[in-house]
Amino acid sequence: MSETYELSCDCGHVTMTAKGEPKLSLFCHCGSCRQLYNADMLSATGWAHDNVELPDESKLFVHKMDGKDMTRYGCPRCGMTMYGVHKPGIPVIPHALFRKINGGELQDELKPTLHLFYRDRVVDVDDDLEKSQGGEAVGL
Ligand SMILES: [Zn+2]
Ligand SMILES: [Zn+2]
Repeated sequence: MSETYELSCDCGHVTMTAKGEPKLSLFCHCGSCRQLYNADMLSATGWAHDNVELPDESKLFVHKMDGKDMTRYGCPRCGMTMYGVHKPGIPVIPHALFRKINGGELQDELKPTLHLFYRDRVVDVDDDLEKSQGGEAVGL
């Protein structure tokens, strides 16, 4: 099974491709993700570098978070976040970009498998997924 996902921002200025299976699909509740993505939690996939074709950096805005080794890349025209790079150093692509190309639904094979840093949450989530209190589940 080798899916190819052709992703793009809202305005179409930035496109990128992900192929095959993500290494991770999860919700992260840590304070850094909440700050970097300006959201109550990060809902995203993580990919091996070999499985993504990222846009040329000259086409993107690059926001490096103060004091942290965390960077968010997005479209300078429409403002949409395309991906981030933080621990464990792999490109992190929000679920929302995959939903956009699938009629608003997240593809079954990309469904999240756990919650990370659940102890740091600002919202409770009532689902059946594993709630990892810290980052141990992915080696953080
Ligand atoms: Zn755009
Ligand atoms: Zn996080």
